[in-house]
Amino acid sequence: MFTLAIHGGAGTIERSLMTPELEAAYLKGLSLALKAGRKVLEAGGTSLDAVVASVIELENYPMFNAGKGAVYNHIGSHEMDAAVMEGKTLMAGAACGVTGVKNPILLAKGIMQQSEHVMMACQGAEAFAKSIGLEFESAAYFDTEHRYKQWLELKDGDQFTLDHSKSEKKMGTVGAVALDKDGNLAAATSTGGMTNKKFGRIGDSPVIGAGTYANNETCAISCTGHGELFLRSVVAYDISCLMAYKGLTLKEACDKVVMDKLVKIGGEGGLIALDTKGNIELPFNSSGMYRASVDAQGNEYFGIYR
Ligand code: ASP
Repeated sequence: MFTLAIHGGAGTIERSLMTPELEAAYLKGLSLALKAGRKVLEAGGTSLDAVVASVIELENYPMFNAGKGAVYNHIGSHEMDAAVMEGKTLMAGAACGVTGVKNPILLAKGIMQQSEHVMMACQGAEAFAKSIGLEFESAAYFDTEHRYKQWLELKDGDQFTLDHSKSEKKMGTVGAVALDKDGNLAAATSTGGMTNKKFGRIGDSPVIGAGTYANNETCAISCTGHGELFLRSVVAYDISCLMAYKGLTLKEACDKVVMDKLVKIGGEGGLIALDTKGNIELPFNSSGMYRASVDAQGNEYFGIYR
């Protein structure tokens, strides 16, 4: 048995604002990413390799806020964050505030496997990426017209927004969680953060326990939403703790955190979650979340709206 879930960000995603062409393009991106991770798991590969394969597809797809499609920060550049974690070993790797790295998720994995550290930032992380031979792209590669327009609307103010929305509440980020045939969990998250964020701002995505977490004893989680609130709520680890210390099921723990605790402090967004029993939860408290999964029977699911 294996399971896999992916997301392409949560936010104010209204059916009324979507065209059939846009919807089809988002679903195509999700489908490519699901296929990439599923292929690894079907062949008996590890959950770590599966989540990385899925996230690479999402990073390379211009419509999602990670890698190629990363949003602009306040000074008009792209600073990206990513993290991975393995549920069996509790090994983790994270990169934050990096520019030019084509696939930040590979950098997170490299930091986990090829350095003695868990988290690296900015130029130091970029130098490490070079030292392990990762691919870099010019600034032009990360320039996408729709992100540029989003930024132009905001750049003269202090307001910063999440992606995927016409309103002020815009979210993005991509992620994947997987359970492999050996019963091991893994989680991966990658993001450009929030449009017009301050230079140097880091969200929840690369912070182990906040936006990303995996532990074979409990669950694997990748979050998307208003990073500041997700950081303050230590969302991913909170779900794991509710399962470990309080005996909640995956669904109960996800509902408590996403639909109750986060809502109470105004933390808009969602997450994807798996446990080792084959359960999959894709909760969100925003109007939509790009999401897809493969369950233990091999059935695929795709969703955008509530
Ligand atoms: N959580 C991400 C961040 O705050 C953004 C998102 O998920 O849309 O950087």
